[in-house]
Amino acid sequence: MGVSIPGVTYFHRVRCRDLLTPAHGERARTRNDVHCPYSTSALAALPRPQSFAVSGQVAAAPFARDEFTVTWTPPVVHPVGEDAPQSDGFGYRLAPCAGCSSDHNGVDWNPGAGAPVMSIADGVVTDIGGPGGSFGVYIEIEHVVNGQTVRTLSAHMREGSLLHGIGDVVTVGEVVGAVGSTGQSTGAHLHFEVHLGGAPVDPVAWLAANVRSEPL
Ligand SMILES: [Zn+2]
Repeated sequence: MGVSIPGVTYFHRVRCRDLLTPAHGERARTRNDVHCPYSTSALAALPRPQSFAVSGQVAAAPFARDEFTVTWTPPVVHPVGEDAPQSDGFGYRLAPCAGCSSDHNGVDWNPGAGAPVMSIADGVVTDIGGPGGSFGVYIEIEHVVNGQTVRTLSAHMREGSLLHGIGDVVTVGEVVGAVGSTGQSTGAHLHFEVHLGGAPVDPVAWLAANVRSEPL
């Protein structure tokens, strides 16, 4: 019939059915050559949106790994500083006083009376005592370093200098007391012990292997 007015879409008088498949760029037409809105089938004939397939091989492309690991070791510091003079080492010795042990379970440093004593690592206070007894004023702290439980003991500290009680959480480098001469002591010094699995080890060697300013 050739009924067509440019710019007008016919719905009310001509039923747009029996659509002919339009050629590319043409509008859909009925068998009577009436222009109609695009039908679903006509739209299907239009250019499709592009899609991009990514092969699995590309998605699995190799990449360089760093040395990240799921375990880490927190910083460890020296309890009275690396430069503190050492007056006695770990192991057998001639007892320096009547009540002093000849089998020295720790190391003695002389940073000076009143010098701050620091927790060597993050930890929890497991024991305190003094001023009576051979250790005088002491504090024992439990840490975990390299996945291993480490107990440290700081003894002969100044009376009244303890800043924590049992169960307190301490952080690496936190001051826990001051150097003194309480208990069986011949002068102001820090007696410091490191225990692994309940047995004392040489604190100097252990610190040499574990002191670090940054986590591993
Ligand atoms: Zn000692």
